[in-house]
Amino acid sequence: MSVSVVWFKRDLRVSDHPALVEAIKGPYPVICIFNLEPERLDRADVDPIHIEWELDCLTELRSSLESIGGALQFNFGQVTEQLSLLHETYDIKHLYSNEETGLQWSWDRDKSVATWCSAHDVEFTEFPTNGVIRKLGTRDHWKKHRDARVSAEQVNAPMSMDSPKGFTSNEIHSMERLGLKPRLLFERPLPGEKAALNVLYSFLDERGRTYRKDMSSPKTGWDACSRLSPYLAAGCITIRQILHHTRRKQKKVKVNPRSKENLGWTSSLSSFQSRLAWHCHFIQRLESEATMDVIALNPELDGHLAREMNAERYAVWSQGKTGWPFFDACMRSLIATGWINFRMRAMLQSVASYTLWLPWTDTGLHLARCFLDYEPGIHWSQVHMQSGVTGINSIRAYSVLKQSTDQDPDGDFIRTWVEELRDLPKEHIHEPWLMSDEQQKNFNCIIGEDYPSPIVDEKTARKEGVSKSYSAKSKPESKQRSLVVYDVHGSRKRR
Ligand SMILES: Cc1cc2nc3c(=O)[nH]c(=O)nc-3n(C[C@H](O)[C@H](O)[C@H](O)COP(=O)(O)OP(=O)(O)OC[C@H]3O[C@@H](n4cnc5c(N)ncnc54)[C@H](O)[C@@H]3O)c2cc1C
Repeated sequence: MSVSVVWFKRDLRVSDHPALVEAIKGPYPVICIFNLEPERLDRADVDPIHIEWELDCLTELRSSLESIGGALQFNFGQVTEQLSLLHETYDIKHLYSNEETGLQWSWDRDKSVATWCSAHDVEFTEFPTNGVIRKLGTRDHWKKHRDARVSAEQVNAPMSMDSPKGFTSNEIHSMERLGLKPRLLFERPLPGEKAALNVLYSFLDERGRTYRKDMSSPKTGWDACSRLSPYLAAGCITIRQILHHTRRKQKKVKVNPRSKENLGWTSSLSSFQSRLAWHCHFIQRLESEATMDVIALNPELDGHLAREMNAERYAVWSQGKTGWPFFDACMRSLIATGWINFRMRAMLQSVASYTLWLPWTDTGLHLARCFLDYEPGIHWSQVHMQSGVTGINSIRAYSVLKQSTDQDPDGDFIRTWVEELRDLPKEHIHEPWLMSDEQQKNFNCIIGEDYPSPIVDEKTARKEGVSKSYSAKSKPESKQRSLVVYDVHGSRKRR
């Protein structure tokens, strides 16, 4: 029997899914497959939280497909081998999938699928789904292309589909069957496409009102940020869908922006839309440089920086035991929940790269494993930026003390995540190492015993890191490369 196949990857939804809709429009019954490559389980940037999230979103997708007459085949193995097996039973005429921008391994996988298709006389069509433009040369006209893409009409979810007779869904592997130990996250979001829409609605109905003002603190950001990132990473929702609803809200607000009901929304919606544009801007970088997890955009500059692994520093940084309360609270909260707001992510990375002088490759991997929303294009671009290895961004090294007093002045966030400091009053919570012996006794926290002494003097080490970074950035080879980096990757908003 001749069939079309839809290959789901990081696009676990039925709405705004061009590959699915085009396959259904075609002349053949449709088989949907999802393929988990065994090598992914061993990758250093993958954590059990990612696989479990994917499997749970996949279960939701399977129900959605079944509700319109479809079925989903889950495969665990190399995708070309699985396609060959399927081809023994069905005559695959056409393979449909959405474009994915990933690291080198996913490019290699997609190329091997294209080769398999041409060897087996199977037509292979891929569809773009966001503002990332394949084979883009310079950045000069990128914004125009991106805006057109994300403003285009959404592709409606299909109402029904025709599967080959007798083709039914199989069981999706459990974590246990994959040999993985789940790592439970505190208040993990609900999986799937419907949950993604509910999160978007709750943001646009109320939570997002204070987005602009509250996004920078890890306390207020938990509710005020959209929290859509894990859904975007698994493809349960698209940027186009989010923008569509956001613009509708914006139109409503514009009618009477000063009314009590619309208070706060104008600036929050505008900030939110800028971030949605950054999403595609950064993934576009990975689209042109698939090795960003191992090679800096400006390798000459990175070479001059010559950061070195230091096992002790890496251990305390990655576990949230540096002795800097606010930093430790942020890292521990991230490990426990799988999410933290942008400002604090930037601080975690910048402390690793500037203050502790650790290699961004290793620290970037740790953060990738911690983020439930790990999106390689955004992640590695940000890791490069916050480590000063692009040559085109300003050097920004965050002071933990400043962030601590600005974002958590009373120390509530610190007390929530750093148990050892729960009895400390506001005056000592940001710099507990300054307490006298008597105060340490009174507040049940002996520095160096109950809670670590600071791993290094933060201010001195940060300043030293910044100074070395300026010196590396000013070398002629670094500057020369920066011109190329700007041409290919630089935002054209500001020169
Ligand atoms: C070192 C570092 C690593 C990061 N790694 C990731 C990652 O792996 N996955 C990821 O989705 N984001 C990453 N970010 C960007 C940002 O922190 C998250 O997108 C954001 O915190 C997710 O929460 P939210 O969905 O509530 O964001 P909101 O503030 O509500 O923003 C909505 C969406 O806009 C996009 N967005 C927001 N901020 C940025 C930004 N600075 N750059 C690019 N896109 C943005 C995201 O898609 C986000 O989901 C990283 C930032 C840093 C500094």
